[in-house]
Amino acid sequence: MSASAGLALLAATAAVLALLAWAAYGRTHRRPTRSTDPPHEDLTAFLQSLRLYRRLPPELQRQLEPRVREFLRTVEFTGCAGLEVTQEMRVVIAGQACLLGLGLPERSMQALYGVSLYPDEFLVEESDEDPDSGVVTEGTRALSGQTLETDRIVLSWQDVREAQQRDDGYNVVIHEFTHFLDHAAGPWRSAGHSALQAEYELLCAAVERGEPTLIDPYGAEDPTEFLAVAAETFFELPLEMREQHPALYGTLRGLFALDPADWPDPG
Ligand SMILES: [Zn+2]
Repeated sequence: MSASAGLALLAATAAVLALLAWAAYGRTHRRPTRSTDPPHEDLTAFLQSLRLYRRLPPELQRQLEPRVREFLRTVEFTGCAGLEVTQEMRVVIAGQACLLGLGLPERSMQALYGVSLYPDEFLVEESDEDPDSGVVTEGTRALSGQTLETDRIVLSWQDVREAQQRDDGYNVVIHEFTHFLDHAAGPWRSAGHSALQAEYELLCAAVERGEPTLIDPYGAEDPTEFLAVAAETFFELPLEMREQHPALYGTLRGLFALDPADWPDPG
């Protein structure tokens, strides 16, 4: 073999190896999509589609934009089950996540590495152990959102989109990012918070009595879920919460350092 043929073979082998490595990487890593910095008009237009954003006083709207840009620069978005993540999806999620943390130090979301986005509800494997019999049931459950470990949030875009159109106390972005702040990097914890614990017990009692509740009865699951659903009500139905649960409203106003009941109604 001549020297040049040897070199050509070497180059071809290297190219094949690189291709194989790339293919293996592609199988194990879903390719994340990087965000380009959206122009101001696009960013504002996507944010304006959010009812929560339209209710923010102008001063808070101004403070939100640089936080959203920082979020888009640092958090990796990954489309799952064939979903192609668009700039609108990134801004709609980043906008609500940053709005939730607007009263908190900027570093509150720093530990968040990525957001995985499914087109619709996604299935997770679950096992449940009956405490009495010890029998373990395996199964799958459909979820609209999930907070994984300490650095990743999984969301269903369909649920994100539906929630942004209504103020009904259901908002999966607020729910999951509240879990994130609570578990992972939060400046506060729901566990052992005496004021939250007292309100959690009130909700459990109301659910037990079969009474209709302003706060999603799912909050009676445990104190962590209680905080996440209470945060949804706090941001989406603040006037109702301030009137019906003034103590809880006051606690959340203290935790988030925001007062949404004082923001104007966007109509
Ligand atoms: Zn939850």
